[in-house]
Parts: sequence; C-alpha cells; structure tokens
Amino acid sequence: MTAPAKILVVEDEEQLQRMLRSTLTQAGYEVSTAKTGLEALEAMVRQEFGVVLLDLGLPDMDGKEVISQAKAISRAPVLVISARDNGKEKIAALDLGASDYVSKPFDAAELMARIRVALRPPRVCKEDQEVKTVGLQIDVASRRAIVEGRSVRLSRKETEFLQLLAEAHGAVVAHEKIIESIWGRGSDADYMNVRVLAWQVRRKIEPDAGAPRFLIAEAGEGYRLNMD
Ligand code: CA
Repeated sequence: MTAPAKILVVEDEEQLQRMLRSTLTQAGYEVSTAKTGLEALEAMVRQEFGVVLLDLGLPDMDGKEVISQAKAISRAPVLVISARDNGKEKIAALDLGASDYVSKPFDAAELMARIRVALRPPRVCKEDQEVKTVGLQIDVASRRAIVEGRSVRLSRKETEFLQLLAEAHGAVVAHEKIIESIWGRGSDADYMNVRVLAWQVRRKIEPDAGAPRFLIAEAGEGYRLNMD
C-alpha cells in the first residue's frame, strides 16, 4: 500500500480551512494546515508535500510571494485557491510557477479532480532522475536529498558524490575514482578532500552522523552507499 499523499492547506479563513481539511481527509489525504505564508514556508522546509493548496489572500504576505519562495524550497505543485477571480492575478500566479488555479467559491468535486492532476508524477526526463535507496532519495536535478521525508539541499559536489555512489549500486567506489570523477583528472585533490566531502554529506543526510547508515567508509578503499 502506498502512503497517502500529503497536502498542505494554506488558508487563513478558519471555516474554509476546516472544510478543506475534512473534505481532503475524507478523500484519504494526509492534511497539514497553515494560516500564514510564513507558517506555510516553514512547513515546506520541514517536509515534502504532494500538493500545496494556497490561498492568495494571506494576513502576512501576498500569496504570490509564497509561490516564488516555495519554488526555491519545495517541488510540490502549488494549486492556488483564491477569491480574486481576475485574469491578471491568475496569470501572475501561473507565471510564478503555480501549477493550477481554482476560484472561490469552488466545487469540491472540481477541486478534487485538480488535486489528482497535480499529484500525478511529472514525466521523468533524464535530468530529473531520482536516485533511490531505502530511506534516502537523491534528486539530482534540484540538488536535494530527501531523508525520511526531510528535504536537504546539497552542493554540486555533494550531489555528484552521492550520484556516483548510487550508480555503483552499493559497491565500493575507490578514493581515486571519486577524486577523478568530482575534481577531475590531474587535480590537486586528494584523500583528505574526499573525507571532508563525505563528512559534509553525512552531516546533511545521516540521522546520526556518528553512526552512518547510508554513507559507509571502507577503510583504505573508498565509500559506498548502503542500499540494503
Ligand atoms: Ca484569505
């Protein structure tokens, strides 16, 4: 059984928030709510959502500002719900990266249909590949790792390192191979650079950096990514 999709409802009107929560929960979704733009962005930093339902009229910031900031921290499609039924607002929201737009008052069945569309996984192209291990996902395109639902940003080298290890499917990748692949042949980088890089990656992806679960060092050989 797959886990229910998580939906973040960003709506300051309590009655509407309650209505959305109960409708979505009944439809089998896992619902979180936020009343302000800031709360919404904080929730998106903490976890990944399948869809974010966003009211444009929020007390602390314009919903359009939330859309542009959300794009930097989350891959969740943003479905705008707003009373502002005018073309300009709609186009502005879509230009900022909203995936769809529903005007208030909306029909619950229509909203559900749009959520289902937004939840469909985007077509996977090569650059958008996700490398998966148990409890750890590496999104090469957006340079993030998702560890048990927590999303962390990776630097370019950290992403390349994890991708290299993931492509070895659990086999040890030698220090020389890592250096050549990340710093390039003939660079000054050495074993210490690899250790520092591994340390940086562990601080981000390991629940307990002192007892690594994913990024395993094989003394005198190299590193492997634990795929068990
Ligand atoms: Ca509102």
